[in-house]
Amino acid sequence: MAGTPDAIVVVDDAGRIAEFNPAAEHVFGLNRAEALGQDMIGLLVPARRRRAYRAALARFSGTGDQEALRRLHRRSATSALRADGTEFSVESTVLPLAAGGARFCCEVIRDTSDLTQATSALAESEQRFRLLSTLAPVGILQTDADGKAVFVNDRWCALTGLTADEALRQGWAGVLDPECADFVEAVWMDAQHAGEEFQAEIELRSRPGSVKWIEGTAVPLQDASGRIVGYLGIMADISARKAADAERETMLAAERDARRIAAENAERLLTAELKARKATEAARRKLDEQNKRLRELDELKTQFMTTLSHELRSPLTSIVSFTELLKDAKPPPGPQAAEFLDIIERNSDRLLRLVSDLLLLGHLETGSLPLDLAKVSAADLTEEAIRARSAPAYRRGITIEFAADDGPPLRIDRLRMLQVLDNLISNAIKFTEPGGTITVTARCDGDEWRIDVADSGIGIPAEDQDKIFDRFFRAANARIEAVPGTGLGLSVVQAIVDVHGGRLAVQSIPGKGSTFSLYLRAAR
Ligand code: ADP
Repeated sequence: MAGTPDAIVVVDDAGRIAEFNPAAEHVFGLNRAEALGQDMIGLLVPARRRRAYRAALARFSGTGDQEALRRLHRRSATSALRADGTEFSVESTVLPLAAGGARFCCEVIRDTSDLTQATSALAESEQRFRLLSTLAPVGILQTDADGKAVFVNDRWCALTGLTADEALRQGWAGVLDPECADFVEAVWMDAQHAGEEFQAEIELRSRPGSVKWIEGTAVPLQDASGRIVGYLGIMADISARKAADAERETMLAAERDARRIAAENAERLLTAELKARKATEAARRKLDEQNKRLRELDELKTQFMTTLSHELRSPLTSIVSFTELLKDAKPPPGPQAAEFLDIIERNSDRLLRLVSDLLLLGHLETGSLPLDLAKVSAADLTEEAIRARSAPAYRRGITIEFAADDGPPLRIDRLRMLQVLDNLISNAIKFTEPGGTITVTARCDGDEWRIDVADSGIGIPAEDQDKIFDRFFRAANARIEAVPGTGLGLSVVQAIVDVHGGRLAVQSIPGKGSTFSLYLRAAR
């Protein structure tokens, strides 16, 4: 009794402690002397078990029947009470004893609280593992050391399309194609040799037509001594990631294609641009040459016109002079001769004006016309020009109104500028019906003079307005109404205004009239 590690408590038939060994002293935390003679049930049995205990003990003491006591102790949660009042789990064996005619009950009690704790910790951990495997989004398979499946979770079954029983029977290899299983095994072996965790991406064809991509991982399970006692296989569905990868790959390929096409197009564009640039360059060179040639021709033409006009002017001047002489001759020419002389005079006058205009234009264009610049009053100049044309206006029944500002003088070639105003006023008279009005105004804003010649005549068609300053151009209405003219007057006007650094503008409404505006800088 002294040597055994189990507590031994002997109880007499009245339930009092008759013996209490050293192990019992240690387990219950009580001295033998304190325990002896005490009511064992009241001292060592937790309150809730006392009644049943007393009944079983009474039965034993009365009849020697141990069965009730044994049954009591077989219950799983057998427990006892320590002296400090804490309850602990025990395993108890009951032995009947007889000595000196008395019946004793000997209980051999083993403290199993450590074992109970370990068992409950294990159960707890087991439960935690089951819970985790239920909740885990991955398939889990556990095998024993020989690779035989011992556990699968629901997700494993869902992924493989097998029932738990089938999954347990087939293990991990059964869910793969034989070829794939060989491959996995080979990779697994390699990983094991290298001391690494096995991991592989596998195509899983669990049911016909169902293809899933899974990532398989396997880790060995070891006991405390490091011995492999099983394996844990984990299977995660990576189909979505694989699909996304594939999609990204397709997109990248499309992007690469697009970039390649863009690069090709850019190159093609560049080549085309280079070609176009070369062609433009060639065309520009050709155009330059043509322009040069045209300029030469233009100069030749101007020279020719100038020479021709010059050559024509002398004979014309003499025709005009001699016609005048013949008209004034004594005795005067007969009526028919006088009429012929009038015709000769009119036509040679026209010719002379045309030739003079051409000659002047030639000089203006070649810059060979010297300007005789002087300060001239704009009002005086305008008035003088009007006066020169007042007789023909009067003859045509046209009124000329005139108004002018005071202001700084102009610095101009007076005769040439008179020619400008004369041309504008004669046109106004020519293109205005009898009874019409011409208004001439000279206005100054301090720096610039603006001289307007406005008429109430036939006007100029809109489409012709920007062409009337071209040489020999005559607007359609002027031609239709057979208003006499050469189409040179406004070219001369434009050329003279240009050499004076001025500008011209026209505003006209067909059927209502036209206003020609001449702008000239005031002299400083
Ligand atoms: P033209 O000798 O024909 O008058 P111009 O060069 O002076 O030549 O004028 C060119 C054309 O401009 C004229 O033929 C005419 O069509 C138009 N034109 C010029 N002045 C007027 C005007 N005051 N009213 C209407 N048309 C005009």
